[in-house]
Amino acid sequence: MSDCIFCKIIAGDIPSAVVFENEDFIAFNDIQPVAPIHIVVVPKVHDSNLSEFAANSRANFLDAISLTAKTFSHNGYRVIFNTGSDAGQTVFHVHAHILAGERLSGLNGNVE
Ligand code: 5GP
Ligand code: ZN
Repeated sequence: MSDCIFCKIIAGDIPSAVVFENEDFIAFNDIQPVAPIHIVVVPKVHDSNLSEFAANSRANFLDAISLTAKTFSHNGYRVIFNTGSDAGQTVFHVHAHILAGERLSGLNGNVE
């Protein structure tokens, strides 16, 4: 999609710090990290969100996410798909956030 920021990153028109890439996916550091490690994993084919991606039966997203996360985190990681406006999705090209590198708060923040 011509006006999609992630499609521009995939095309190399906008620079990014790529940490993983294969035929179907690219992973790069988020420009506004909310954890010491904050990577977004993005399918190269444009689908606007997770539901659209799933409906189109694309290549194995979970493999790309777990491979990237395993490489860059040691004590665990969290994967988030913001889907739709109530969830705060701002880039409408499906992507997974990988957060790691510290004890993450929220959701299970009380667990020791
Ligand atoms: P969303 O809110 O849609 O789940 O997440 C979009 C993410 O993309 C945000 O965390 C935002 O910081 C990141 N982002 C937006 N534009 C760019 C960019 O040009 N480069 C990089 N590396 N990340 C971006
Ligand atoms: Zn796109």
